Amino acid sequence: MSWKDYIDKSLLGTGKITNAAITSREGTSVWAASVGFDVTLNELKTLASGFDDPTQILGSGFCLSGKKYVTIRVEEKSIYGKQGSEGVYCVQTGKTIIIVCFPKTTQAGEAIKIVEALSDYLISAGRSILQEKAVDLLLTAICIHDSVSVDIDVLESYISEINNVIIGLDLEIRKTIDQSTGVAIWILINITSDVFSQLSTNYNPSEIEFFKQLLDYILIKSNTRQLEVFAITSSQALKESCIKSAGLSKVSAEASLAAFVEEGWLSKTMHGTHVYFTLSPRSLLELYPVIKTYIYDPDNNFDNESTKITSLLKRCKACHNVVTQGFRCLKIDCPVRFHEYCSKAYMARQKDKLCPNCGEKWMEENFVGKKALENINI
Ligand SMILES: [Zn+2]
Ligand SMILES: [Zn+2]
Repeated sequence: MSWKDYIDKSLLGTGKITNAAITSREGTSVWAASVGFDVTLNELKTLASGFDDPTQILGSGFCLSGKKYVTIRVEEKSIYGKQGSEGVYCVQTGKTIIIVCFPKTTQAGEAIKIVEALSDYLISAGRSILQEKAVDLLLTAICIHDSVSVDIDVLESYISEINNVIIGLDLEIRKTIDQSTGVAIWILINITSDVFSQLSTNYNPSEIEFFKQLLDYILIKSNTRQLEVFAITSSQALKESCIKSAGLSKVSAEASLAAFVEEGWLSKTMHGTHVYFTLSPRSLLELYPVIKTYIYDPDNNFDNESTKITSLLKRCKACHNVVTQGFRCLKIDCPVRFHEYCSKAYMARQKDKLCPNCGEKWMEENFVGKKALENINI
């Protein structure tokens, strides 16, 4: 069910409500509204901030779609207003605000009941599907046993059915491949908000700044012409200059790192005596809008190609996804990269096993990822 369906069927469909809208709790977007009920972002912002601090709306009321309402009552989860004989009732449900207007023929109590039934539904729907980890683990487990018991087409059509339902909540399960194992995994992602606004619900601005610095290091600083590492060690991550500019103490930076791993934004691995953090499959999916600006694309016109190309991410020659773990051509300036599993499959079909771009012998010796550091002593 889409947001528009909620409005038309669950709210206006009752015949007791004249206008309705569903918006984000932060007051930054109107997700759906009944025809002609045009709540502006300024109006919404005032309303949303009324849940945090009701002083302003209690004093001067609030506007919706150009109509001015007197604030009658503000409670923790609800705001009730009036204009003449028309009432308006607004409820926050965690991620959303539901706004309904009702005529004098509808009792306030009835309108409240209708909205609360819907808000309970949204809250429980949110809870049951937001158990991302459980979905991940379950689906990964199904996939690993795929060859034994589950038909992949059945699984994919099952997931596409789930997607038809959760798209109304701005969620989608997307398939990706874990680069380190070559195993397909499905990840529940939020399709409307970007990664940084998602992070802002769980992390403070310093922690988000720290995350951005880690990203910058993993994508840019650890990636040079000679070495494409795409990783940061824990000691690099906790370097004083890095955490100081984000305004974090060492203890809170360590706690943030652990939380980024726990919530699937970063992957943590041991290599020798070092602890490395790399971009997780979830990050690679959800950060794609950021990452794609760093991808090497022969069609891009860079001013100084030779320096820029070598410091950009490359796509796998076989599957065309970004490679942050895999093999590179032995020729240092050749842009050919393969994931390990893609290289095996691709080269198994080639008699000569040569780089498809420059013709150099393909050796599977030159790594992309933290294994790149094996060839040098650090
Ligand atoms: Zn590949
Ligand atoms: Zn090559």
